[in-house]
Amino acid sequence: MRIEVDRDKCAGLGMCEAMAQEFFEVQDDGTMLVLDEHPGEEHRQDLTAAVDSCPVLALSLRD
Ligand code: SF4
Repeated sequence: MRIEVDRDKCAGLGMCEAMAQEFFEVQDDGTMLVLDEHPGEEHRQDLTAAVDSCPVLALSLRD
């Protein structure tokens, strides 16, 4: 699967990082870095929680 980020929406709020720290990291300048854009299926539950936690709906998962 692939993590997609709508950069126009992402406000660097860090909810995704709180839900799945291995995959998301908010940088000092407020941008959010995806640490692994192609995570394995075993991470789907954590990543779905991260996607659902984003207040501005900037995240999605693609198969
Ligand atoms: S929770 Fe949403 S707005 Fe916040 S850093 Fe993650 S993707 Fe960006």
